[in-house]
Amino acid sequence: MCLSTIFFNYAKSKLNILKQTVNSIGNSFISKKTYAVFNKAGSSGSLAELCNTLLEQQKKDWPQLDEGYNALASVRLRNICCDGFSAAVQFNPGRIKSTAADLDRKTVRERKCFLCPENLPELQKGILYRNEYLLLCNPAPIFDRHLTFSSISHVPQRLESNLEILLNLAKDLNPEYTVFYNGPRCGASAPDHFHFQASPRCALPVERDAVDMKRRKPLYYNKHVAGCILLNYGRTVLIIESTDKPRLLEFISDLLKTWKRNQNIEDESMMNILCSYQEDLWRLIVMPRSKHRPYVFSLEEEKRVVVSPAAVDMGGLIIMPREKDFILADAKLIENIYSEVTEPPEMIERILGQLK
Ligand SMILES: [Zn+2]
Repeated sequence: MCLSTIFFNYAKSKLNILKQTVNSIGNSFISKKTYAVFNKAGSSGSLAELCNTLLEQQKKDWPQLDEGYNALASVRLRNICCDGFSAAVQFNPGRIKSTAADLDRKTVRERKCFLCPENLPELQKGILYRNEYLLLCNPAPIFDRHLTFSSISHVPQRLESNLEILLNLAKDLNPEYTVFYNGPRCGASAPDHFHFQASPRCALPVERDAVDMKRRKPLYYNKHVAGCILLNYGRTVLIIESTDKPRLLEFISDLLKTWKRNQNIEDESMMNILCSYQEDLWRLIVMPRSKHRPYVFSLEEEKRVVVSPAAVDMGGLIIMPREKDFILADAKLIENIYSEVTEPPEMIERILGQLK
């Protein structure tokens, strides 16, 4: 018997016990959708390993996922050198539904929510996380391991009330995955259902550039929380680092409130976030947004570029579901898209200056 078979058998026997726990929750949909349960680090092994096992199993059991990963094997990638930074464009036809999705309030309200457990595809299963969330395999992957982390309840996409879960998940998935968040008005394909996603760590150019000290302009240090922005990077990128969870939570909460106050808005400020944890340190890469889609998205067919920037795209991997756009993409287009949808760095500097 090969090692992976032994591991699967071990995982399966463990799951039978875990499923009994899930049944006690009393939600038959959740129970039906649960492949494994994860409650706390150390209690059920590594979460990242469990996710990798889920992914391999789902490729066997769920043909739609297997097709998605087969299609990913043939996506094309091109690096483009821009002014001050490099980006990559990925031609990925499987993403057309998400990239071109109609996200106005009426359409979202009237469609069947694809993240609610009762609407998930019959064969899709996930890891029940701390009894409130499901970790699922994304059937239209951008990465060779692409996860969706979704609330089991239909609650709106919102960062403020889910900050601690973001930090916990990043820590539980370390060191293999980075967790990312798309605001409800700038990239979330389900703005009405709370979710994060996860990608392999350092799969995005900005994650690598964020640790390049020559690029950093320090702006904030207080109570074990440090903040800086990246210089000459084509879009505004704020990096927040801390080893102290309570202080970090307090800081981000203050940042979000001050940001909203500066913009004089009730809704959440527009942003995409990447969050990772390594060697006792949380790193958040915050990319503030002024708008969701660039004007080229709405042009007439001949001049249109189907691009819909979210965390992955702002992180330096621009997804293009149409071959024509992929072929024509150049440095000027990428630079223009970034400068159009980002907030100016002065805004972040001003907000940080107002924080204690
Ligand atoms: Zn839902």
